[in-house]
Amino acid sequence: MVQGSANLNMELTEKWLQDYVDNWVSFFKKQTVEGEVASYIPVLAAADREALGISIIGKNGGTIKSGTIESKFTIQSISKILTFIVACMERGLSYVLNRVDVEPTGEAFNSIMHLEMTQPKKPFNPLVNSGALTISSMLEGNTSDQKLETLFILLEKIIGYRPEINVEAYESERDTSMRNRAIGYYLLEEGYLESDLGITLETYFKQCSIDVTIDDLARIGLVLSNDGLDPDTEEEIIPRKVTRLAKALMLTCGMYDASGKFAAYVGIPAKSGVSGGIMAVVPPRVREEEFPFLEGCGIGVYGPALDNQGNSMAGIKLLRHIANQWDLSLF
Ligand code: GLU
Repeated sequence: MVQGSANLNMELTEKWLQDYVDNWVSFFKKQTVEGEVASYIPVLAAADREALGISIIGKNGGTIKSGTIESKFTIQSISKILTFIVACMERGLSYVLNRVDVEPTGEAFNSIMHLEMTQPKKPFNPLVNSGALTISSMLEGNTSDQKLETLFILLEKIIGYRPEINVEAYESERDTSMRNRAIGYYLLEEGYLESDLGITLETYFKQCSIDVTIDDLARIGLVLSNDGLDPDTEEEIIPRKVTRLAKALMLTCGMYDASGKFAAYVGIPAKSGVSGGIMAVVPPRVREEEFPFLEGCGIGVYGPALDNQGNSMAGIKLLRHIANQWDLSLF
């Protein structure tokens, strides 16, 4: 349903907009059978492969939602851009960037290769697991709950409630994630971890297991679209320079080894997660295009059927179609 203020920037009826997006979701939903839900974290295998939903929330108060819109799912790697933001706010940008770079790897999110092949062995970016674990280790606090408190405060400001950790998902990853332990030991040996490895991994598994909805992801995207300011009050939630860097990282690294294609064919900052979520950022537009959210919007997508890069297959196709129809690309 399309709600909110009547000043949607298009002179199109609300119903026409809704039908427009409903048709796209039902079209791409048929293609979910080509993807596979993640199963390396056992609990994720229970997801409905054919689910596909989208929530678009504009600064003007307009919203469009379609498909699977009520499901809760774990945020997974989308949490990495949030812990990066928290680390920058807690420790300062230069402190963080001394420890994690801002370069795409072109490799899978849990690749160890670059840690082995490069000198120094500084993690390439905070959105792959080696960078994310380094970030989790530097969050302030001695326990995982203390380290994540600032993240929960930030999330509550953005989405309007304090989300919960899905304990089943946390335990499922905690009990099976050998790859992240291997990455953690590498980082420990190279001196990049600032906390005990056990606490770091616990923090990371908990942040990845936070339950969210597509509305929550759209609201996160909207704050980033609004340069870190609350879209209603214009109060600063995230400092401008941190928001700018977060969006740049999403554009270059947010979709892992599909980030180049996503930048080329969709052209907006986005971050994916293996439970099938995508959080995307559409900045304010300067062109008088047929686009209903000229003041910018955030987009949340859920589609657990993944492609080979671990991104939501139908979710990417849906975003690419919307980007082409509404000329969303930054370029
Ligand atoms: N917790 C997952 C892992 O570390 C996150 C991966 C993702 O969402 O890309 O493998």
